[in-house]
Amino acid sequence: MSTMTEEPRDDAPVALTVRQDAEIVPMPRCTRCQLKYLPARSTSALRLTYCSFLCELGDLGFSMVGLETMERAKKTDTPAAEPPAPEPAGAR
Ligand SMILES: [Zn+2]
Repeated sequence: MSTMTEEPRDDAPVALTVRQDAEIVPMPRCTRCQLKYLPARSTSALRLTYCSFLCELGDLGFSMVGLETMERAKKTDTPAAEPPAPEPAGAR
């Protein structure tokens, strides 16, 4: 691993060249909050449109992941009512 050290070369062009791995990635603006973001780091299912799951949810009023979950739930005839959550006695 010690061979990885970069030595300054005299014939190398001055570091005006753009690093490919860092700068070539296009950064779209989030449709909702107008911030630039990295699509790869977006938590939204529509990661080319929204910067995060929250912006997707806030703009659409629902999330694509939520829609998928709803469609799956429809296949079971009627969504079984969840058993009432046991309320902690000391809640009030
Ligand atoms: Zn956003």
